[in-house]
Amino acid sequence: MAGHARRPRLVAGNWKMHRTAPEAAALAAEVRRLLGANPPCAVAVCPPFTALEAVRVALAGSPIALGAQNLHPETHGAFTGEVSGPMLAALGCRYVIVGHSERRHGMGEDDATVARKLRAARRDGLIPIVCVGETLAERESQRTAEVLVRQVGAAFDGLDPAAAAETVVAYEPVWAIGTGRVATPAQAREAHLIIRATLDRVVGAGTGAAACILYGGSVNADNAASLFAEAEVDGALVGGASLDAAAFFRIAAAAAAV
Ligand code: PEP
Repeated sequence: MAGHARRPRLVAGNWKMHRTAPEAAALAAEVRRLLGANPPCAVAVCPPFTALEAVRVALAGSPIALGAQNLHPETHGAFTGEVSGPMLAALGCRYVIVGHSERRHGMGEDDATVARKLRAARRDGLIPIVCVGETLAERESQRTAEVLVRQVGAAFDGLDPAAAAETVVAYEPVWAIGTGRVATPAQAREAHLIIRATLDRVVGAGTGAAACILYGGSVNADNAASLFAEAEVDGALVGGASLDAAAFFRIAAAAAAV
């Protein structure tokens, strides 16, 4: 696709394991106040499970979407401590993050698990935000493309084009997450093009060009505009800066400005 104007923009906040339910409700209310009734682009916030209901209430009637940070692939059963897609959908979640690097690398989630979770999210009416990205060691050994092709291929292989079209991808280089070391727009562009080409190959021609691909990794209010000026970047998955309502608002405004 030549012009990014044809793809909608999304800015999603990943609050990780931060904020109690009352604190999350207050943050959501502040985000809502700043963004107003007509946010500059599609916006979602992904609080911890324990704050979903409080944030749902705080955002009721606003265009800001609710998302979760993870789901179990099964709908129900003997899976102590887990939360399923139908449970999230019943709480009003529209999105769910799948395969975040902190789960891949910190909790041992492999490509097959990510693929199952992606399909579960679709089954349960949620829009998955599937995270992919290379570690620093992989980048430094020129294996970025290989890792992205493997991760995207495993997640999307056999997915029907309609389901793929309703799936968001987040390119999140592991070395950029929470480090303050942001990818350059050129690095993001190169990775997003690899992801689009892989989607074309495993799902079908045209899938890549239509896909919403976010960049994630140390996005903040000061660097967002230069990333969004890159046509292959359709928005951002924001961690740390999404806990600051004013910074998150500025990032959303930057997404809409280009
Ligand atoms: C993330 O959690 O997905 C993320 C990108 O974090 P940060 O913005 O803090 O690097």
